[in-house]
Amino acid sequence: MKSQDIRDKFLKFFESKQHLIVPSAPMVLKDDPTLMFVNSGMAPFKEYFLGNADPKKNRIADSQKCLRVSGKHNDLEEVGYDTYHHTLFEMLGNWSFGDYFKKEAIAWAWELLTEVYGIDKDILYVTVFEGSDDDSLDVDQEAYDIWKQYISEDRILMGNKKDNFWEMGDQGPCGPCSEIHVDIRSAEEKAKVDGKSLVNMDHPQVVEIWNLVFMQYNRKANGSLEILPNKHIDTGMGFERLCMVLQDVQSNYDTDVFTPIIREIETISGKGYGKDDKTDIAIRVISDHVRAVAFSIADGQLPSNTGAGYVIRRILRRAIRYGFTFLNQKEPFIYKLTDTLSKQMGTAFPELKNQKRLIENVIKEEEHSFLRTLDQGLLLLDRVIENSKSETIAGTKAFELYDTYGFPLDLTQLIAKEKGYNIDEAGFNAEMKKQKDRSRAASASETSDWVVLKEDDTEEFIGYDTLVVDVKLTRYRKVTSKKDGEQYQLVFNMTPFYPEGGGQVGDKGSIEASNGEVIYILDTKKENNVIIHIAKNLPEHLNDTFRAEVNEEHRRLSASNHTATHLLHQALRTVLGEHVEQKGSLVRPKSLRFDFSHYAKVEPDQLQQIEDFVNARIKENLPLEEQRNIPMQKALDEGALALFGEKYGDTVRAIRFGQSMELCGGTHVPNTGDIWHFKIKSEGAIAAGIRRIEAITNMVVGDYFETIDKEYQALKEVLKNPNEPVKAVENLQSENADLKKQIEQLLKDKAKNVKGDLKNEIVDVNGVNFIAKKVDLDASGIKDLCFELGGELDNLFAIFGADNNGKALLSCYISKSLVAEKDLNAGTIVRELGKHIQGGGGGQPFFATAGGKNPDGIEEALKAAKNYL
Ligand code: ATP
Ligand code: MG
Repeated sequence: MKSQDIRDKFLKFFESKQHLIVPSAPMVLKDDPTLMFVNSGMAPFKEYFLGNADPKKNRIADSQKCLRVSGKHNDLEEVGYDTYHHTLFEMLGNWSFGDYFKKEAIAWAWELLTEVYGIDKDILYVTVFEGSDDDSLDVDQEAYDIWKQYISEDRILMGNKKDNFWEMGDQGPCGPCSEIHVDIRSAEEKAKVDGKSLVNMDHPQVVEIWNLVFMQYNRKANGSLEILPNKHIDTGMGFERLCMVLQDVQSNYDTDVFTPIIREIETISGKGYGKDDKTDIAIRVISDHVRAVAFSIADGQLPSNTGAGYVIRRILRRAIRYGFTFLNQKEPFIYKLTDTLSKQMGTAFPELKNQKRLIENVIKEEEHSFLRTLDQGLLLLDRVIENSKSETIAGTKAFELYDTYGFPLDLTQLIAKEKGYNIDEAGFNAEMKKQKDRSRAASASETSDWVVLKEDDTEEFIGYDTLVVDVKLTRYRKVTSKKDGEQYQLVFNMTPFYPEGGGQVGDKGSIEASNGEVIYILDTKKENNVIIHIAKNLPEHLNDTFRAEVNEEHRRLSASNHTATHLLHQALRTVLGEHVEQKGSLVRPKSLRFDFSHYAKVEPDQLQQIEDFVNARIKENLPLEEQRNIPMQKALDEGALALFGEKYGDTVRAIRFGQSMELCGGTHVPNTGDIWHFKIKSEGAIAAGIRRIEAITNMVVGDYFETIDKEYQALKEVLKNPNEPVKAVENLQSENADLKKQIEQLLKDKAKNVKGDLKNEIVDVNGVNFIAKKVDLDASGIKDLCFELGGELDNLFAIFGADNNGKALLSCYISKSLVAEKDLNAGTIVRELGKHIQGGGGGQPFFATAGGKNPDGIEEALKAAKNYL
């Protein structure tokens, strides 16, 4: 069965069980501070499990892109070494939100595996939670009793809390789970070792394929469990592992999910897969990592130096390193795999096809720059080895290589070993631990449980229409972190505060109690669909009615920049072409930033056209046309622009100003005229194929012109108020250039005169033309002098000293014939004479110079020169 059919069959099956089939959510999470990437099928549905939003249907199924490379689930170091863990993988899942529970979940899983896919039930094992004393929980008897209707009891195994109790995080919904494992070993192997003893023992052919989680508890901040009013089902099946079983192979990498990419790597590198352990690991690493990186770029997360972008960069660098070390790839090559990947996965994930060019460009550029870094790192390592006093290289040095050049310990060890050195591993690990402790301490925070004042699950955002409203506090919690100290997160029954999102910063403002007490709202964020207001303290009377008021200027300027961002987007697509796609934006009161895909520098005249285009739309006074709840498809049909990597609902908000129409949740000015003016401040590249424009609007433009005008006036004054200031500066510049030329000529003439005088002072010492003298020339003048004299006289040994504004200079010239004959070396001589001027230098045997800080020593140095003859 082809992988494509395996995926389809899963979705069809659950569709037939009344599930709504939804597409995979983007892999990069936007409003969940606890997670960087979706790491399990349930992550995009967290808000439903937490009760913060209602799902479209209480039965859903999908195939979700997951990435396990950071945080609680991190499989990165396994990838390549084993055959069944990936960084990016697809998790097939079916969900019940307060609908069916264990009975159906188990029955359907069994039906799908054994009847639809036809897996022999004698290769399956299932596990059941055995209970745990910490939580005073008993064995999951309910699950056990259901399982035994389908599978013989000797294939039902008990599992501990680590494997069979699933938790989303330190807090929140959780529950026991049942895993389904397969044993795909040969009959011979099975006869030797009982499969039961290999379950959950990291055996490559006895692996977990599906986990059925029965969410029935909520974990509170103090660690205790409470029973959830609504019970949920969350299941996750590894798609690639399922393909391995159904395609009757022994490794995920032998399925058609991976073989086309592996064939391509073989072709490029000329190395075969399946011949040598190290090569195989490298090929698996690369074929896995290119998927993770490509999917991430398609979802809008580019490699960068911080946060999620840094994680992606490290994954790609890991692949580059393996290619470099084990496949001998010294030039970029991973980007070439993009083509095969997008052909193969593009049907299920069209974003790969649509963004192919960008993905290719970004990967190629990253490869280029990291290969350069690798080269530098290798040189550095050579130097470290050269300078090492013993055969053990210090752990701090190895860590430095790791930290700044991305050299992992094993690579450093490998290279060192080839040269007969080893690494102080304990020292390396100690440095690593220090760094981890530092970053943990910096980001550590503690969050209390919510204190619920009023049950109210539909918190309303009314900030599009008003900035002031009376609100009630419905819940709050305390967050303590090193960075911000103690803060409170407040949730109201409704709110005018816009939460950070869509690139726009969150609102600031205040709430005022009836007794006049004012609490400042420092920022507003959205977390799992709840709008959170951040304050330094709690109001005294929690049940009061508060007058919530958004800081009007902060909001107005943000809105002005947000609307300008839409107009800029339209301008870019008009002036540069329809290929321009938004790749990121930052909208705040003082400025806006817009990142977009484009493959060349934006020329000054194009920038001018773009700016003019936006300002023309501003002058047209285009009114805001807002459609709050229109069906997604309708909005797209009307020409609205949607962003890749953004999660949209069925109904969307569409924002139109004239011909610009975008899906957007941000706040906007009522009329483009309110922007006043738009001014681009800068344009440049931030990654391969990605450009960034920074611009300002509104009164910030006024301030900007004001400042420029002041500088301009000051400049004019310095120039004595000429009628044409530009011309005046140009005149100054050309005058300056003329003067420079004259000075150069004068210096040359002077050198000539000096030469004439000096020639008379040359004396014969044992057949050598010798001179040692202080001259009034600069370094290049002395050099010219030496070579001219050398050209005119044979057997010349000349030493000149000069005091250039307090800096001492010594130059030594020795005719080549003398160098050989008398075994003289100008480099050695200046180095030795350099001591007199407290300096050093060097050069070639026939010409060398030294610089020093003691001009008083020049005479002495010159005197000493004669000793060399
Ligand atoms: P394992 O113990 O094998 O790492 P897990 O307990 O971490 O698995 P879950 O978190 O329960 O797995 O995820 C559900 C399913 O997703 C697993 O049964 C497995 O099929 C699949 N899966 C988990 N991690 C990976 C991975 N890194 N690569 C590929 N598939 C995975
Ligand atoms: Mg795991």
